[in-house]
Amino acid sequence: MQKINIAIDGYSSCGKSTLAKDLAKHLDYVFIDTGAMYRAVTLYAIQHGYLVDGKLNDQALINDLPQIDIFQSAENGVTETWLNGEKVEKDIRTLAVSNQVSEVSKLSEVRKKLVALQQKMGENKGVVMDGRDIGTVVFPNAELKLFMTANHQVRTKRRFEEFKLRYDNITMEDVSENIKSRDYIDTHRANDPLRQADDAIVIDNSYLSPTEQFEVAIDLVNKALAKTSPTV
Ligand code: C5P
Repeated sequence: MQKINIAIDGYSSCGKSTLAKDLAKHLDYVFIDTGAMYRAVTLYAIQHGYLVDGKLNDQALINDLPQIDIFQSAENGVTETWLNGEKVEKDIRTLAVSNQVSEVSKLSEVRKKLVALQQKMGENKGVVMDGRDIGTVVFPNAELKLFMTANHQVRTKRRFEEFKLRYDNITMEDVSENIKSRDYIDTHRANDPLRQADDAIVIDNSYLSPTEQFEVAIDLVNKALAKTSPTV
């Protein structure tokens, strides 16, 4: 059967990656988490002292971009992000990275590099990619575009449950602030801001379980596949 590309965009902590992973597994497609790529560049900037207390030395990071190698591997359904040959999947999920990633993802030079990589990954179709600009910039011709949203309290609670296992002193307020500020920067930046593509289908998963959101999405995937498959 013909393969398609599926673009999933939306706000922070809306369950985009959960849905993308579930769809990729079911369809035997490649799952690509583009947020992880921006997080890896952010980790590089922190490790090299270019990002301290939210202040980014743009030029130093831009100068180093040619030597920043980011790669995503997927084996047995597990996606790993690699930064210059090191597995960084855990290190990119810290609060320090979450709090500062939107500063790094504002830079047009960073976006240019990562968008080119992402487009290459999808050139043979069969990818489910989640992010902020997938349906608008990376794959404007994707056969299916989903835009995920959920109410703020639900998103905060979901992310808090995740973070509280790792951080003893974290509060709901910290998590709520992180989500609010990332959404603000991501939707207001000059370069490729987060916005819903005109032809994207909205899924509000505030009151949907992962299984229910998968069922809604797979129905849309099947319709998109039926449109692209030649009829006999
Ligand atoms: O998806 P995730 O929350 O891991 O993304 C982290 C950050 O990376 C986002 O808040 C956003 O600043 C940036 N991002 C982006 N474009 C994408 C994916 C993520 O700017 N396609």
